[in-house]
Amino acid sequence: MTGFREAVIDLDAVTANIRSLRQVIGTPHLVAVVKADGYGHGAVPVARAALAGGADWLGTADIPEALALRAAGIDAPLLCWLHPHGADFAAAIRAGIDLGVSSAAQLDEIADAAGSGVAQVHLKLDTGLSRNGIAEAEWEPVFQRARDLELSGVLRVRGIFSHLSNTSAADDRAALAVFTRGLALARRAGLSPDLVHLAATAAAIDLPETRFNTVRIGIGMYGLSPFDDRSSADLGLRPVMTLRGRIAAVRRVPAGRGVSYSYTYRTTDESTLALVPLGYADGVPRQASGSGQVSIAGNRFRVAGRVAMDQFVVDVGDAEVAVGDDVILFGDPEAGVPSASEWATAAGTINYDIVTRVGARVTRRYSA
Ligand SMILES: *Cc1c(COP(=O)(O)O)cnc(C)c1O
Repeated sequence: MTGFREAVIDLDAVTANIRSLRQVIGTPHLVAVVKADGYGHGAVPVARAALAGGADWLGTADIPEALALRAAGIDAPLLCWLHPHGADFAAAIRAGIDLGVSSAAQLDEIADAAGSGVAQVHLKLDTGLSRNGIAEAEWEPVFQRARDLELSGVLRVRGIFSHLSNTSAADDRAALAVFTRGLALARRAGLSPDLVHLAATAAAIDLPETRFNTVRIGIGMYGLSPFDDRSSADLGLRPVMTLRGRIAAVRRVPAGRGVSYSYTYRTTDESTLALVPLGYADGVPRQASGSGQVSIAGNRFRVAGRVAMDQFVVDVGDAEVAVGDDVILFGDPEAGVPSASEWATAAGTINYDIVTRVGARVTRRYSA
């Protein structure tokens, strides 16, 4: 049966979200971040929809993700920034993919891989997140080395960037001050980056001073809010993914019936149980057992008992529910269905995690 288990991806919403964010943010450049298979939505179709909305760059975490976009025929400017030891820099350079650089060693590896080409790099400064940027103590030697490599025609420093912790406005402003200092040192070393980028969605919306001339937008493009206290609609965004399925079984049971593993839920009255054919293998968080909600024919029902690998049960009471009926786990709350953010709260996580974890067994259906 079609639609047994599917994520419906509204590509028009991707395009509209990018348009709307561009208007708010107003930078000359916007990098649409499509790492992790476009946060679970499908990197290639999302990338195309983002470009249609006016994104002029694409971003992925690693080189294989970027190469997959090139293999699909996408020739837009493309940056990736997380490289394991032994990453195939030569393939990336041949494919015209810009490389984030997080250490002196990486800069030299990229220079060695450039061959007859010119590597385009973006130097990533650690400004507090303590992940993979260039440590402050290394800035001056790396800037100097990068400038030498530029002068010898091996590479070009097209960008300087960093990433914020979203801890608080004060912490992000402190990181901004560190970044600004790094940027000044880079310019003093003779570097002249075309793209300067610090903000992801949250700071791009809330802290205009972090926008420089480029922002990197992930979660907002998918129509989800990075803020606890503001919804998608509050930000003028439309959720892109609707996770849905069809009821696989319905049974009428007496009071006192145990439901799913460990019987953490028991019926209190005679009741109808509906079986939803998505489980934690499909990304439904097991942590939302007993608390996540679904929508069936416009009514909300809570997960009864444990989420299993392939399925979970909802107790619909005396509602009329039949095998094959639509069940929506999350989508656009403006349409009355639960949001990815509600599932995140139920599972003790963030909406990023809810959409990104949707499993390979769930068919992606594109509507545009
Ligand atoms: C994932 C990522 C982003 C996108 O962040 P959002 O909060 O989803 O907008 C931006 N920059 C870097 C370096 C990232 O890793």
